[in-house]
Amino acid sequence: MRKFDRKKPVSISIDSNNNVKSYSTVKQKLREELLFQTQYHCSFCDLLFDYKILAGFKPEIEHFKPQNLFPYLAKNWGNMFISCRLCNEAKGSKYEDIYDQYKPDLDEYLFENHFEIDSETFDIKPRYDGKSETEISNAGKFIDWFGLNETERRTARLRVFKEIKNRANEEFYLDDLSYRFVFEYFNTFIKNYCPNIQ
Ligand SMILES: [Zn+2]
Repeated sequence: MRKFDRKKPVSISIDSNNNVKSYSTVKQKLREELLFQTQYHCSFCDLLFDYKILAGFKPEIEHFKPQNLFPYLAKNWGNMFISCRLCNEAKGSKYEDIYDQYKPDLDEYLFENHFEIDSETFDIKPRYDGKSETEISNAGKFIDWFGLNETERRTARLRVFKEIKNRANEEFYLDDLSYRFVFEYFNTFIKNYCPNIQ
């Protein structure tokens, strides 16, 4: 949900069709390359894979267009995203082409173009202003697709937000936080309460 710029991997080879060479033998490296692309965050919910989480489970490689429906994209670098288990399991092998516009590595993708955050519940909602009913409905389905408003996800966002507020005088790097798009979205909050966020 937070935009990232996909770059060519440095430690694995990609062929002229953008497919990863020796896919089955480079999975660990692939995971590291994908983590590097998002500064160690889940591509969809933006959970930070810190040492506690990495000790508990491995981030997973999510194929945006699922392998069973798009076998020719199974090794495609542009189709692979690093994902937490919750996002990966929630999405499963669901796919509709209307969701391509929300891929967080798209040049034109920006969270605030499609979504907003409820400042009380921390639900992620479709953006309403200037949007058609279809656009609102599609954005809502995309949120459901990854289970982004399930109770534990919403609670986790709120917990990080409160924690940062309690430590407002400390220095933070945005990339060291889970759910960075929440902090970007609440710009005023950052300026007022967390002057040391960078
Ligand atoms: Zn996730």
